[in-house]
Amino acid sequence: MLVLKFGGTSVGSAQRIKNVAELINNKEQKIVVLSAMSGTTNSLVEIAGYLYKKNHDSANEAIIALEKNYYEVVKDLFSSAEYLEKGKDLILSHFNYIKSFTQDMFTLFEEKAILAQGELLSTALMHYYLSEQNQDSVLVPALNFMRTDKDGEPDIFYIKENIKREIANNPTNSNFITQGYICRNSFGEIDNLHRGGSDYSASLIGVGTDSDEIQIWTDIDGMHNNDPRYVENTKPLAFLSFDEAAELAYFGAKILHPASIQPAKIANIPVRLKNTMQPEAEGTLVSSKSNNEGIKAIAAKDNITAIKIKSGRMLLAHGFMRKVFEIFETYKTSIDMITTSEVAVSVTIDDTKFLTEIVEELKKYGTVEVDTDLSIICVVGNFIAESKGYALKVFSALENISIRMISYGGSRHNVSLLVNTSDKKEALVTLNKNLFENV
Ligand code: ADP
Ligand code: ASP
Ligand code: MG
Repeated sequence: MLVLKFGGTSVGSAQRIKNVAELINNKEQKIVVLSAMSGTTNSLVEIAGYLYKKNHDSANEAIIALEKNYYEVVKDLFSSAEYLEKGKDLILSHFNYIKSFTQDMFTLFEEKAILAQGELLSTALMHYYLSEQNQDSVLVPALNFMRTDKDGEPDIFYIKENIKREIANNPTNSNFITQGYICRNSFGEIDNLHRGGSDYSASLIGVGTDSDEIQIWTDIDGMHNNDPRYVENTKPLAFLSFDEAAELAYFGAKILHPASIQPAKIANIPVRLKNTMQPEAEGTLVSSKSNNEGIKAIAAKDNITAIKIKSGRMLLAHGFMRKVFEIFETYKTSIDMITTSEVAVSVTIDDTKFLTEIVEELKKYGTVEVDTDLSIICVVGNFIAESKGYALKVFSALENISIRMISYGGSRHNVSLLVNTSDKKEALVTLNKNLFENV
């Protein structure tokens, strides 16, 4: 079994949907996981925002604009009267559903239900197209098997049992189409795996079905050695270990959802990153193998907040750190970087939902300073082979950038640096020149 996940751009137009149909046109047994067509989830977020604020006029306007795009897609996608009709009915029913919320009460539950429409539409359109072409296709609803537990974590046992049942129900088929991103929570309500979550869906489905490989098909030829949105001359990497890819994903390489590598690593299922627009390009293979290439890639994660707790009296006392960490644990807020000195401890977080509460509690232990608009720059590689000199190379490249925090030695795979977000682009560019271009 293979899992092939196609992102928003890969299914972003009628022509792209046709290209994906061509790519999956073989006898190999596979689960095809689709994102919403590009732009759709952003529009649905916007619509939900208007509904939340009871701005029904703007909501209606945005709904009608999005609906119009989908009728165009239907016109370009299908050629037979039968499927043109089916396509139109599909769009009508989904958009009538979205419109129904312009009259009702709007809660968080309804927001999630609206956000789910993008993946429900893209998969139904793909399934209809494959059916019109007489290509094998079974539509498997992700809401029948993708589920999170009471902590919001994937319920792997439930996912495994239920996806296997869905596949076993269709023993003669080889193309199973399902939605990325969407799931049910522990109450059985519609929920999602957060923005960019289709990669995570693909990984969980790969694990749930004991797949041979998880393929992430996107709009670029694999994981690059730096962020192509900010740096020119970046290059694709042919191989990465699970740990290296996980660090890059966690620290901002948008090509992979931050949590998507972990399940594949645990189950030891290779993850292959491929370019839908250029399928012949090699892409990146992420696996348990590691090669000794030294510094491999750089990523950056924005929206970081630093919290410094200064306490000359308490810091050296036993149990101080435990008390500090317990506060973050209570508020389910994970810490990315930590540094300590004799009089202070600094940590960074990216989830600021409970920042006020956390700061209030930390004040019991000293004075607290909060700093926002920071970015973590993460340099990833395999630093065991010849560890001498890596840190020096990184720091000398950044001689003109003010570095707020440094984390080195936490793993063999990463050096992290905290900078002001306004310096991020320059930091990425100069690191690229010094680490990859002048060697
Ligand atoms: P999809 O819609 O297919 O999930 P995404 O937009 O989520 O695609 O991810 C692909 C994008 O990730 C690329 O177009 C690229 O701009 C961005 N990206 C950021 N960092 C990297 C990196 N290190 N390597 C490759 N792509 C990256
Ligand atoms: N459609 C969702 C999003 O835009 C999920 C994904 O694309 O992975 O965030
Ligand atoms: Mg993505």
